Amino acid sequence: MRSIALRAARGCLRGQFTPSLPCRRAAQGSRSLSVTAARRDEERQWSTPLAKQLAEAISATGPVPLASYMRMCLTADVGGYYTGAIEEGRDQFGVKGDFVTSPEISQVFGELIGVWFVAEWLAQGRQKQGVELIEIGPGRGTLMADMLRTIRHFKDMSQSIDAIYMVEASPTLRMAQKNLLCGEDAPMTESKVGYHSICKSTSLPIVWTETIKSIPIGPEKMPFIVAHEFFDALPIHVFQCVDEPATQKSPAASTDRSSPSSKTSQPTLQWREMLVSPTPPGSTHSSLGTPPSQSRSTPPPDFQLTLARTPTRHSLYLPESSPRYRAIRSRTGPGALIEICPDASLYAADLAARVGGSAAHPKPRPSGAALVLDYGPGDGSVPVNSLRGIRRHERVSPFAEPGLADLSADVDFAAVAESALRSSAAVEVHGPVDQADFLGAMGGRERAEALARAARGRGAADAEVADVERAWKRLVDRGPGGMGRLYKALAIVPENGGRRRPVGFGGDVEA
Ligand code: SAH
Repeated sequence: MRSIALRAARGCLRGQFTPSLPCRRAAQGSRSLSVTAARRDEERQWSTPLAKQLAEAISATGPVPLASYMRMCLTADVGGYYTGAIEEGRDQFGVKGDFVTSPEISQVFGELIGVWFVAEWLAQGRQKQGVELIEIGPGRGTLMADMLRTIRHFKDMSQSIDAIYMVEASPTLRMAQKNLLCGEDAPMTESKVGYHSICKSTSLPIVWTETIKSIPIGPEKMPFIVAHEFFDALPIHVFQCVDEPATQKSPAASTDRSSPSSKTSQPTLQWREMLVSPTPPGSTHSSLGTPPSQSRSTPPPDFQLTLARTPTRHSLYLPESSPRYRAIRSRTGPGALIEICPDASLYAADLAARVGGSAAHPKPRPSGAALVLDYGPGDGSVPVNSLRGIRRHERVSPFAEPGLADLSADVDFAAVAESALRSSAAVEVHGPVDQADFLGAMGGRERAEALARAARGRGAADAEVADVERAWKRLVDRGPGGMGRLYKALAIVPENGGRRRPVGFGGDVEA
């Protein structure tokens, strides 16, 4: 029997910190880096090759949105955190990596998610074919391996699965997933869609794509989709509310009846975007105001956030995309901050369309389910100041050594729900609920106890048994900073007039 020992006893979680970013007002207009500054930057030593590349791009185009910076840091072809910056023989996960995640802590996590999908498959009428398992951001592949081991016990469901899809940006992690799920010797072939291999435990085809858009949408398919700690890695834009003298026409205010018209002499409230620009040469942690907790192990940040002095393409439309942002502008006024993740909304819309159908992809009968597990406010509030950098289990400045640190931000679950519901009239959204409640309702404690008993039964050392119990407790810890409260689950399921709640979200298993 496979070892059930604790997978990663310690290590920092990506969702654990409450950061605060020093921000400077832009001294220059967004495209006005002087030639002298550009020349000075040429001689400047940048902390990573990616930092140099970013600085060159910024000196040509002006400061860039935080989302562009984040995207480059995480998934740039050269030197992105998930796409090659980490040295050989090391990955992001576990004690030797940068952080730990739930599937790496305990097998119970993935098993319960497998059970959740089985429960949905049962409740939705046991479709006999066309079932797809899709994981977005699968890390080492551990969650999928644990889900598959569980789903295999339900023969009818296993036989209804057509294919497994893995959405993965990192070539290194894609290979790690292939090795785990298909075997080190299994060949991987490339096609127009992505990369292909065969799962060794189920003989099912596994297809790797870089984005979910590459996975075909079929009206008869029943997709079961999981995204664990994926949405937090999607790039965010940050906006701050400012007072704008009324003499300038305000495009933001012109669509908002609650704001004074630009014809009056009243100042208007506008959103301005926070942009990323290089720090002045010779900056130190103290001149930049890096919090001491973030300055221990990195050189001074190469970049900093500055507030754009004029509207940007994004500041004109993203904060207008939801009444939630308009309410914050009227309620909090100047100084209010919001984080918006357009990619999260696009992903949520795609997931909802796959389950419920949409105008572009009509579906005769909604089917399948999506489960998003991540960290972020569970009370509907918009994330603020949540960008964080993590490296080797320590909090670091997101602007130091770009590409070498993991960057993530709180997930705006309310925005995910809003986008899913807007995309498909045939889905409903449940949650977010705390991870502790979700896993507890799924029978996690009982499963952890059974694993501990089994370990004891085969004569495992007391320490191993204690590890199994400790790992489970860590997943559902409700203390301050505990995973049970920090992490949340949100489900997108076929609309059923509120008659059936999914298990873990207040419902029971229906066979
Ligand atoms: N779900 C895993 C891994 C979380 S880390 C776990 O819980 O252990 C984030 C994962 O998302 C990694 O696999 C990373 O390579 C992938 N990823 C990050 N940004 C991505 C993007 N834009 N597109 C596709 N995959 C991405």
